[in-house]
Amino acid sequence: SDAQFSVPLRPDKYDWRILYPSAGKSYRSLSDLQVKFVDVGCGFGGLLVKIAPAFPHHFAIGLEIRDKVSQYVKERCKALCQHHKGVYDKISCIRTNSMKFLPNFFRKGQLSKLFFLFPDPHFKTANHRRRIIQRNLLAEYAYALQIGGLLYTITDVEELGSWMSDKLSVHPCFQQLSAEEVQNDPVVPNLCGGTEEGTKVKRNEGATYLTVFRRVSGPM
Ligand code: SAM
Repeated sequence: SDAQFSVPLRPDKYDWRILYPSAGKSYRSLSDLQVKFVDVGCGFGGLLVKIAPAFPHHFAIGLEIRDKVSQYVKERCKALCQHHKGVYDKISCIRTNSMKFLPNFFRKGQLSKLFFLFPDPHFKTANHRRRIIQRNLLAEYAYALQIGGLLYTITDVEELGSWMSDKLSVHPCFQQLSAEEVQNDPVVPNLCGGTEEGTKVKRNEGATYLTVFRRVSGPM
């Protein structure tokens, strides 16, 4: 049940400094520290670790529903932070159910990047409502993303790839990036080989389906 999660009532009630003990020290009040990148369903944290050196000034957080996995990611970030001063001090993980609690953690327009890498496919039609990209949740993702912010999805399941792309395409707050824009995005090369799932797919030489959408101003 969700009773085991500790969830802030509102974003400004959450003390991010605890998650980033080293980088957080210089922030005086709870809400000064602003996370910009969110990896939803981060698994073992591969993406956070991969992108941290490229974005030394951005705080990033992984959201992971499994307790042990989220603990592991926190420890992994802490250990890296100790051994590479100043490189991994802005990445961490929260155990939460992102499908329920995203607006508790992030204020309107706060985020510049939202990642959904190799999400659970939930193959059966009856379980499609459990998919992490779906119409009613897109409103929450649009709310948290700043105008111009980017939402990335990648999967090795073709049907899920089309599903995610279809849902995002019809939403008035999202506009798909052109192939050229995707190619020029420096984050994109990290999406396939960067995470544990991505590495598995790459090793098996499997196909992947990537889409990137920009948050545009819509009727919100
Ligand atoms: N993104 C990682 C990667 O590419 O290696 C992990 C992919 S794994 C297939 C999907 C992850 O999403 C799992 O670790 C799962 O526990 C997590 N997850 C599923 N539903 C979630 C939810 N509602 N909130 C947070 N995490 C969730």
